[in-house]
Parts: sequence; structure tokens; C-alpha cells
Amino acid sequence: MPNVISWEASGAVPRKIFEKAGELGFLGLRLGEDVGGGGLDFRYTAIFVQEMMRCGSVGVPVALLAHAEFATSVIDRAGSNDLRERFVRPASTGKLIGALGVTEPGAGSDVAALRTKAVRDGDDYIINGSKLFITNGTISDFVTTAVRTGGIGHGGISLIVVPTDTPGFGSGRRLQKIGTHASDTGEIFFEDCRVPAANLVGEENSGFRLIMEGFVGERLVLSLIACAQTRLMWEEARRYGHERYAFGRPLLANQVWAHRLADVRTSLEAAEALTERALDLHILGKPCDGPVSMAKLFTCETAVDAARTCAQIFGGMSHMEECLMARLYRDCLAFTIGAGSSEMMREIIARTEGLSTQSPSK
Ligand SMILES: Cc1cc2nc3c(=O)[nH]c(=O)nc-3n(C[C@H](O)[C@H](O)[C@H](O)COP(=O)(O)OP(=O)(O)OC[C@H]3O[C@@H](n4cnc5c(N)ncnc54)[C@H](O)[C@@H]3O)c2cc1C
Repeated sequence: MPNVISWEASGAVPRKIFEKAGELGFLGLRLGEDVGGGGLDFRYTAIFVQEMMRCGSVGVPVALLAHAEFATSVIDRAGSNDLRERFVRPASTGKLIGALGVTEPGAGSDVAALRTKAVRDGDDYIINGSKLFITNGTISDFVTTAVRTGGIGHGGISLIVVPTDTPGFGSGRRLQKIGTHASDTGEIFFEDCRVPAANLVGEENSGFRLIMEGFVGERLVLSLIACAQTRLMWEEARRYGHERYAFGRPLLANQVWAHRLADVRTSLEAAEALTERALDLHILGKPCDGPVSMAKLFTCETAVDAARTCAQIFGGMSHMEECLMARLYRDCLAFTIGAGSSEMMREIIARTEGLSTQSPSK
């Protein structure tokens, strides 16, 4: 917590924190025990997210989880033993930092439209293209990269692990964001970037399914983050509402504020219950696309709505950098976009509930 302000200012969590988290076993919670992981279930990731969120900077857990959950767990799940030894083992100790590269300038929600191309050449793939908005993009040692190895659409996509010291790999500028300042977000480029075919995760052209399976975990993480953020904002608003006097009495003596914060607390309770249910289904290995999408949709929209109410009670103070609420407010704004937007969640719910025949890619 004492370091959050400097990490927010520098735009990234330092490498030594990844190493420290790795030493403590936090980065390998769900990874295979045979490659140094804990072999635990998603409940432990949930506890890690909830506790890390107490630092008051969403960028910190996002950086660690984009590495451990988004970039690494898919290699652990579907990669060869050689890949798991080369990337998952050092990732679980924080020695290597990973990023997941799916989004491109021309393909975000519509993953199946991605264009970064990998062409087989002997025992290698040669990759050309670019990725955008990649968490840990400028600090990572490897990028689990979605590439087109086949024809158009979702059937032609593969996942390949690209070490960032490969000639032809380039990371561009660190993007300046409205919020989540402590997590690095970057652009990356591939120019005739040659990687061994052995770096393919799973079968060629199976990448879309792997990405979609991974999204379930990402969406649970986002749901947990959104719940924890709503709780923090609510606690801050309640504290300030008791402490701040206007017209000779605490703000919370005005029923309008007590009722507004009662509404936030009620929404939080519902958000946590939805998330718990989705988490349970996921841990039990039951079909959970619909419940996870409902949890992601509801928790993230709740957090954004709560941010507005909780910031409002702070008055002008909510606008000041020195006020924690300012950071809590702006850090919420990407929740309804990342790991599949609210609109994409509604599409999935529409499909799983028999309301739509369309098949959105995210
Ligand atoms: C802070 C941050 C970190 C990120 N980290 C990563 C990362 O590590 N790796 C990675 O690969 N990506 C990452 N992303 C990218 C993220 O996954 C995409 O931004 C997201 O999927 C949306 O894609 P887009 O921005 O291209 O928006 P678009 O797909 O262009 O959508 C724009 C808007 O239109 C809506 N829309 C699109 N299609 C439809 C439709 N059919 N019906 C109704 N509405 C629609 C969307 O919901 C959205 O509101 C990150 C993004 C942010 C903001």
C-alpha cells in the first residue's frame, strides 16, 4: 500500500513485486504442481483478488493477474510439457512476466476478425501484425499471442508464445490511460518475427476455443475486482458521510444519502451473490458461460454506477488527486470494456437464454 502512489506515477508495477508475489506462491495458485504451481482451484484466486484489491489501486492486481491468469494459465492448461517448463515454471516464480495479446487495432470485441498472421516456415512460424491495449505489453518477457494460422473467421486462429527478445518483436509506447495507472498497457508489433513452431499452444487453429475458455476466468477475475472495488468505494463514502458536516450535521444525517448508500450496499450484496454462484459453477466444472457473463455484466455496471454515487458524496474532494475516491472512481471506467464489454456479455446471455441466434466472438 505505501508504494501504490509511486507505481501509479511510474505507470507499472515493478518487476521485483512480481518476483515477491512469485516467492509467496501467489502467481502459481492455479498452475500445475509439476511446474511449480499450487494446483489449487479458483477460490484461491478469488481470495488473492479480494485481498490485493485492498491496496486501492486496480492496476496492481490487474498487472499480476494478467500475467498469472490471462497469459500463463492457458499455456499450463493446453501447452506441451516443453512449453510449460520454459514459460509456466518461470512465470509461477515471477522470473518471467507474461502478457496476453488478443486485441488489435481492427479487432476488439470481434476476436474472430483478428489479422496478425503466422505463416509456417520449416520448424518456425513467421509472425507479422500488431496488438493494442495489451496489459504488461511493454514490460513482459513473453506474450501469449493470438494469430491467424488458417482461413478467415474463428476457425483459423492459434495461440503462440512469443518471447519478447525475439528479433522482429517490438513494444511501442506505454499508453496513457484514464485509470488503472499502475498497470502497464501497451502496443506491440511483429515484423517477420520468427518463433519456433514448438511455441504453439495446443493444436494449430484451436486458438479461438482456448481464448474463449480463458475468458471465463478473466470474467470471473473482473467480477471479483468489480465487487471489491464497489465495497471499497462504499466504505469510503460511508466514512466520509459520517465525518463531513454541512449545514451543521453529518452528510449522512440527510436521508437522501443514507438511502443512496443503502442502494449501493444492496447492489453490492447482489453482485457478490451472483459472483459467488458463477464461481461455484466454474469450480464444479459445470456449464457457466451464462452465469459468468451475468456476473461480469452486473458487477461491472454496478461498480460504475456506485462510483458516481460514492464520488458525489465527496463533493469537490472527489476531484482531487490526493483523495482515494478519485482513483477508485477512474479505475472503474474500464470494467465494462475489458475481458468482453457489457454489450458482449448481453449477447452471450441472450444466446444462452435462447433470445438470440447470433454467435458473438467475445
Ligand atoms: C485497460 C485495458 C486493458 C486491456 N488489456 C488487454 C489485454 O491484456 N489483452 C488484450 O488482448 N486486450 C486487452 N484489452 C482490450 C479489451 O479486451 C478491448 O478493449 C475490448 O474487448 C473491446 O474491444 P474494442 O476496444 O476494440 O472495442 P470495439 O470492439 O470496437 O467496441 C466498441 C464499442 O462497441 C460495442 N460493440 C461492439 N460490437 C457490438 C455489437 N455487435 N453489438 C453491440 N455493441 C457492440 C462494444 O461493446 C463497445 O462498447 C484491454 C483494454 C483496456 C481498456
